[in-house]
Amino acid sequence: MKQFKAESKRLLDLMIHSIYTHREIFLRELISNASDAMDKLYYRSLQDNDTGLNREDFKITIDLDKEARILTIEDNGCGMTKEELENNLGVIAKSGSLNFKQTQEQNDEIDIIGQFGVGFYSAFMVSDCVTVESRAYGSDEAYRWQSKGVEGYTIEPCEKEGHGTTIILHIKPNAEDDKYDEFLDDYRVQDIVKKYSDYIRYPIQMDLEKRRIKEGTHEKPEFETYIEKTTLNSMVPIWRKNRSELTQEDYNNFYQEKFHDYQDPIRVVHSSTEGSSTYHALLFIPAKASADYYTREYEPGLQLYASGVMIMEKCKDLLPDYFSFVRGLVDSQDLSLNISREMLQHDRQLKLIASRLEKKIKSELTSMLENDRETYEKFFQEFGLQLKFGLYSDFGMHKETLQDLVLFYSSTEKKLVTLQEYVSRMKDGQDCIYYACGDSVARIEMLPQTELLIDKGMEMLYLTDDVDEFALKVLMNYDGKEFKNISSDNLGLETEEEKKQAEQSAEENKELLDCLQEALDGKVKHVVLSQRLKTHPVCLSSDGEISLEMEKVLNAMPNSEMVKAQRVLEINANHPVFTALQKLYPDQKEKLGTYASLLYTQALLIEGVAIEDPVGFSNQICELMIQE
Ligand code: ADP
Repeated sequence: MKQFKAESKRLLDLMIHSIYTHREIFLRELISNASDAMDKLYYRSLQDNDTGLNREDFKITIDLDKEARILTIEDNGCGMTKEELENNLGVIAKSGSLNFKQTQEQNDEIDIIGQFGVGFYSAFMVSDCVTVESRAYGSDEAYRWQSKGVEGYTIEPCEKEGHGTTIILHIKPNAEDDKYDEFLDDYRVQDIVKKYSDYIRYPIQMDLEKRRIKEGTHEKPEFETYIEKTTLNSMVPIWRKNRSELTQEDYNNFYQEKFHDYQDPIRVVHSSTEGSSTYHALLFIPAKASADYYTREYEPGLQLYASGVMIMEKCKDLLPDYFSFVRGLVDSQDLSLNISREMLQHDRQLKLIASRLEKKIKSELTSMLENDRETYEKFFQEFGLQLKFGLYSDFGMHKETLQDLVLFYSSTEKKLVTLQEYVSRMKDGQDCIYYACGDSVARIEMLPQTELLIDKGMEMLYLTDDVDEFALKVLMNYDGKEFKNISSDNLGLETEEEKKQAEQSAEENKELLDCLQEALDGKVKHVVLSQRLKTHPVCLSSDGEISLEMEKVLNAMPNSEMVKAQRVLEINANHPVFTALQKLYPDQKEKLGTYASLLYTQALLIEGVAIEDPVGFSNQICELMIQE
């Protein structure tokens, strides 16, 4: 007996003890695998010019044996070699151990079933023994894989006519609350197939018991039963159907099955075109970002079909990066079945389709933003970061597409707002869009720099994601209004009168300020009297293009060259601490130096920048505390 890999074992265990209410989905998972296996073989045969196979010959057969409690699903697809049986069924195919751990912690079964799409293992939700007999196309050997659960599995040679895979499920006995018998009932199984797998493009056949009037007894009818092979599915792919024929539930079921999500999508875009290019597209905006969405593991792209045959699982060229969260498929009649990946990239039709889809997605998002703000905000919570990365990337090339789709937290509205909304509320004479950066809204609200703007009743955008400020820098302006960090050196908010006063008091205190700056020994570019502080003693601002927030972000990146913002230490001339400083000048320069360093360190702490010498800082404070 062979052991399952650790993670598979856990997933399997979960399946066996599942209390998941939609156990019936095991059938759609197995049918979907069977259909994929036939797609694979058919596609391969087209590429190899193998004429031995006929698309019409492919089919899935379901067989029920009530007495023996056995449900069998058979396909004549590509089949699996011994190694493939081992590799595909002995481990979780699309693993990602980290995701699994996370969901384990949440201990949310549904989450796991959703996230993994569970696939083949879902068979264990309804069976106590699963047998897979498979013969790979072109091979004359067949193998039987069998498992009764977590203990492990066996693989041995077996007899099998023809290529393909037969999955034999031994259905669990009925338990008190769980009636597994339904999966042995013809009509129930027929219903499940119709509900989830109607669109599968190969016939799904089953022997159904039918009744007919006995011959010659029409007057006084008597019935006889007979068995007839029935095709259960309509075989029309959902994306080729008319929108009017489909319900939201049809889309949701299809989406969940196809993209292994347990939540319904928040938007569906179904579009078909005729004319210069003929294609059907069915796109979904997921409700939640998958656990790997913001990692390298995530593979973006749409499924690509050429005249109904899947030719690529993830076609990246159909979606711009910033819309990579969109799942879905495109079926085009203009693409050749034999097209190679390299050729696809340069295919004119494909580019045309991609550009149309981009517009469709944009307009769907715009309409969500305008008509269903609540849902849009949920969407933004999940995928807003990707849109902001999109704004920033390629030197702002996608500005037109994205700038009206991003949201930022507003200091006055206390919620997420668009740039357009901000600009529409700007005060007379306000010519900049003000923003503040920090780890969280709560932290930004504590920044001393916000005081002046709050005082003047100005709205600020609070930027909390690393990419935010970079995105705005690349944008440069919105609707002709420049973006301005409230911590930048010159906000230009003071009146002529205030300006004059400031200049005067800067002049009067010049020597003291110079002395403080000297004491800080190059750590800051200037020490100045602040125009923006009301009650706080100090803050830091930056002179030039690089803000403190950008410094933090850039330096946190791996392999980055260290960058430094040009710091300016601002002191509040109206704060008693400034009076204390004035008293120390010029006689107690040493103490003044200590104070300068203390104030600077405090400003760093407020800003959330790591301080260089925490021990020294602590000692300085203690010294102050023990002074008489
Ligand atoms: P997924 O289908 O999502 O990759 P599964 O656990 O359902 O994950 O299946 C794992 C793999 O086993 C599949 O990717 C496929 O390679 C193989 N497989 C499953 N069922 C079949 C089948 N009926 N015929 C051929 N290969 C199959």
